[in-house]
Amino acid sequence: MKAQKRLRIGGGTVITRDPSNPMIEGGGLVIEGTNVKAVGTDDELKAAYPDAEYLDAEGRLIMPGLINAHHHIYSAFARGMSIPGNTPQNFLEILEGTWWNIDRHLTLEATYLSAAATYMECIRNGVTTVIDHHASYGAVTGSLFRIADAARHIGVRTCLAYEISDREGAEKTEEALKESFAFLEYAQGDSDSLGPKALIGLHASFTLSDETLEKCRLKNTKNAGYHVHIAEGAYDNQHALEHYGCSAVKRLYDRGILGPNTVAGHCIHISDEDLDLLKSSGTTVVYNPESNMGNAVGSPDVLKMFDKGIFVCLGTDGYTSDMLESAKVAVLLQKHRSGNPSRGFGEAAQMLFYNNAALATQVFGRPIGVLCPGAVADVIFMDYHAYTPLNRDTIDGHLFFGVSGAHTDTVIINGKIRMKNRRIQLEDERELLEASRIESAKLWRKLYG
Ligand SMILES: [Zn+2]
Repeated sequence: MKAQKRLRIGGGTVITRDPSNPMIEGGGLVIEGTNVKAVGTDDELKAAYPDAEYLDAEGRLIMPGLINAHHHIYSAFARGMSIPGNTPQNFLEILEGTWWNIDRHLTLEATYLSAAATYMECIRNGVTTVIDHHASYGAVTGSLFRIADAARHIGVRTCLAYEISDREGAEKTEEALKESFAFLEYAQGDSDSLGPKALIGLHASFTLSDETLEKCRLKNTKNAGYHVHIAEGAYDNQHALEHYGCSAVKRLYDRGILGPNTVAGHCIHISDEDLDLLKSSGTTVVYNPESNMGNAVGSPDVLKMFDKGIFVCLGTDGYTSDMLESAKVAVLLQKHRSGNPSRGFGEAAQMLFYNNAALATQVFGRPIGVLCPGAVADVIFMDYHAYTPLNRDTIDGHLFFGVSGAHTDTVIINGKIRMKNRRIQLEDERELLEASRIESAKLWRKLYG
């Protein structure tokens, strides 16, 4: 058997996220195929792998690629958009006036280009794994497959879900169910080491009937996880109380939607009993601080979730693709919310660097978010040079307050270099961006009337 090509990276400061060996100065790693083969000092690795191809990090930070636990590719074309007369006064009006309005007008081509643009921006921000939640009621069938095409072309590790909902009528609900389960079957049968993977997407309790939830449960014969929004706005919970006599969390819990494979975005307007259900069911909660502030929906009590032992991850909800920015805002918003300046920092680091990694590892079935032998070779170089002591105890402070996604210099995903010295290694990057500008202008014309 032919030996796999090896790439040795060196000349940097390695932040491994491996508790047994968290940081190596003057070090690097060796990649063999799609995995990390070894991590160590330059001297050790050079001696052990003298024939490996060499990539010099030139003093930069070498880290595991970042992970976004809740993204919305379909929101990409909203950047710069301003629909005349759309001045929402609450979250429901934001959904109706902006997001549902956009997704009703998306074509498959617009979905593909939204995905290509978003994945390229993720790479530029050092984000190598994206767990997305998609809606395009203008063109449902084939939409997840088109996003998967874009992910493959750009080279980002991704997990997709179609947002099943009753909000567009029975025919569209059926189409969404079909797309969701067709893609789930495809992803479960796919052996590509990059993915894609799939979750069953659900919009939120207030747009899902009991019949639709039951259909999802019956079709979900292999116990795949769900990816759902819970109590993002207060209305979701009020609706459940009025129509089902229980909270949104309780309703989804009773219908078999919550569980250790399920990812629940937001969970803002919930009670202590709801927190107990999230905990006992092992459901993952995803915190999206910038989106929550932008939508003026409040903030979940992430500190209480941590105190109760709920597993909380960090996402962006489509607001940005920069996970370091999201983490920084997560720190600030939890301090602000709690009135306690000593909380929030450790929780944000735990979410971004460890919980997101554990979630991605569970979803993709391979070690992700850590640099150690056997982990996936998702590696980023951050062009950051510290002016205060940088060591294993201070690294997160440097990352949150000195580094942003824009410091990303080089990105390797699944062993392949996808960006080098800030240049995305694609021949058609500019063509894709140009096509996105044309397609988004078409969408805006439709929405502006
Ligand atoms: Zn969302």
